[in-house]
Amino acid sequence: MATSVLSKPAAKGGSFLLDSPAPQDIFTPADLTDDQKLIGQTAEEFVIKEVFPHIKDLEAKKPGLMAELTRKAAGLGLLSGGTPEQYGGAGLDKISTTILTEKISIYGGFATTHGAHAGIGTLPIVYFGTEEQKKKYLPKLASGELIGAYCLSEPQAGSDAQNSLTRAELNQEGTHYVLNGQKMWITNGGFADLFIVFAKVDGEKLTAFIVEKAFPGCKPGNEEHKMGIHGSSTTPIFLENCMVPKENLLHEIGRGHIVAFNVLNAGRFTLGASCVGGGKHVLMTASKYAKERKAFGKSIGEFGLMKEKLAEMAIRMFAVESMIYRSAGYMEAALHAASGSGDSSQNTMKVLEEYAIESSISKVYGSEMLDFVVDEAVQIFGGYGFHEDYTVCRAYRDSRVNRIFEGTNEINRMLIIQMLMKRAMAGQLALIPAALKLADEILAGPSYEEAPEGVLAEEARVIANGKKIFLQAAGGAMQKYGEKIADEQELIGALANIVMEIFAMESSLLRAQKAATHKGEAAASVMIDAARVFIAEAAERIDHEAKRALATVHEGDMLTTQLAVLKRFGKRRTVDTITLRRRVAASVQAQDRYPFEGR
Ligand SMILES: Cc1cc2nc3c(=O)[nH]c(=O)nc-3n(C[C@H](O)[C@H](O)[C@H](O)COP(=O)(O)OP(=O)(O)OC[C@H]3O[C@@H](n4cnc5c(N)ncnc54)[C@H](O)[C@@H]3O)c2cc1C
Repeated sequence: MATSVLSKPAAKGGSFLLDSPAPQDIFTPADLTDDQKLIGQTAEEFVIKEVFPHIKDLEAKKPGLMAELTRKAAGLGLLSGGTPEQYGGAGLDKISTTILTEKISIYGGFATTHGAHAGIGTLPIVYFGTEEQKKKYLPKLASGELIGAYCLSEPQAGSDAQNSLTRAELNQEGTHYVLNGQKMWITNGGFADLFIVFAKVDGEKLTAFIVEKAFPGCKPGNEEHKMGIHGSSTTPIFLENCMVPKENLLHEIGRGHIVAFNVLNAGRFTLGASCVGGGKHVLMTASKYAKERKAFGKSIGEFGLMKEKLAEMAIRMFAVESMIYRSAGYMEAALHAASGSGDSSQNTMKVLEEYAIESSISKVYGSEMLDFVVDEAVQIFGGYGFHEDYTVCRAYRDSRVNRIFEGTNEINRMLIIQMLMKRAMAGQLALIPAALKLADEILAGPSYEEAPEGVLAEEARVIANGKKIFLQAAGGAMQKYGEKIADEQELIGALANIVMEIFAMESSLLRAQKAATHKGEAAASVMIDAARVFIAEAAERIDHEAKRALATVHEGDMLTTQLAVLKRFGKRRTVDTITLRRRVAASVQAQDRYPFEGR
């Protein structure tokens, strides 16, 4: 348990846009306990020893193999981190489930299978099941006797999940719901035994059901021919007069969207962690290859443009890892504070909702980081990266889906801003007073600022100004459009990008400062370099997004004034990112791996 962090009250979800926490107030991988590290190690070793030798067969969909390996993982408790011990689960804390997910995700096919079973296939029952449902199904899901799946999407209803055409009607005897419809893209569909199915009762009220494969009328279709994650099963599920006992209705009639969205919140967060695990493995592979592969009489890893790639892969991973463990720390602290009062499943859901913004950021930023990492890895491998015999080729294909499932990145970008606005309007997040205060500051004109001192002090100033830029851009947008901002998707996208950059920059900064405090500046120097590069370039991206936003919101003299204000907030020293990246690359290449593991 991360007691040092748990002793502090958790920051509120989204509050990173307003507050400036101290480095010791955030959780970082350096705070992982030995027990938590051991859980990660067990998960990683399982995949390396038990799954890797079968990848060829898994990719060829050898019948029964993925199900067998999934059950084997269950035997080690790797499938039941989120299931309480009283129902046969491992009952892990949030930080432990985060590292478990990260480390089990070094092979995309297995990561997806695991996520569908242990996450979205099991958690609906953990959070919303009745005592009877929990007792009946959770121990079997935890042991792998049953493999779970989650059936929300339909051929015509993906992002627009509420447009479900699957129907549920209570039979005349009042004993069963009769389900009719088709689900699409169901992970684990080919071998799952238990499905969380969403259907509309009386054609109107979206409702969740627990459906056993053995129920008459429930049938998986053929495997889809996908671009990647070939090791995982994805099929449609056909429901033809499928008889579901009425005791298997999950939660309440017409509350299926609550089940779906809460579970997706959890899924989005873990997907980010999964991307970090996948990325680390790819970086290791790319660094080793760059050492071995010769061109022009040298290892290609000696070329500056190859070093730059390895460094940037590590730097972006560092930012995502920092955000994810910071968020996991907040969630765990909030869960810890709530424990002992109320229902623990309800507490978990409240916490998931509290950090829904951070979860969407984790999903979007994590999946885009991994796509960058696998793309650069293919480039480092040259022609061989384009060949199926090399693992980076598979990793490239496997990564792409992360931007699509668990809510597309477009949907999540919109959610980030919608959730922030909702919290601001409800007075839960003081964005409106902060924007008004900023307007006064802008009117007052520039004030004298002392040069900041201390580790990454200039970067801390840049981030504080980044938050002002967000308030400036979002404040103007809200003033102009109000609730109609929902129709301005490109603007929302730009604002969401700024929000994500701020969270990523600040998480990187605080982690590096914390490392410098605990280990000394010299020992943390490469991490400091990584944070400086990341923050310098994220600040450029914020400038770019803010300009786009301001230009669509304002015009004429007002636009000129707003751009002058942006210039003032965006003022910063130029950083020699080339030299800093070389140092980060040297650290990657010295060990052929991600250099900030557990730090
Ligand atoms: C390999 C794989 C596994 C999957 N596993 C599961 C699973 O286990 N269970 C399950 O239920 N589902 C699963 N899915 C489905 C997945 O969740 C959906 O594919 C996803 O939600 C997107 O829906 P869609 O494919 O219908 O795309 P659409 O919703 O048609 O979206 C197409 C494009 O339009 C954009 N778009 C849609 N609406 C808007 C909007 N309002 N504003 C702006 N842009 C918009 C999207 O961002 C996207 O770029 C899986 C999908 C894949 C590919």
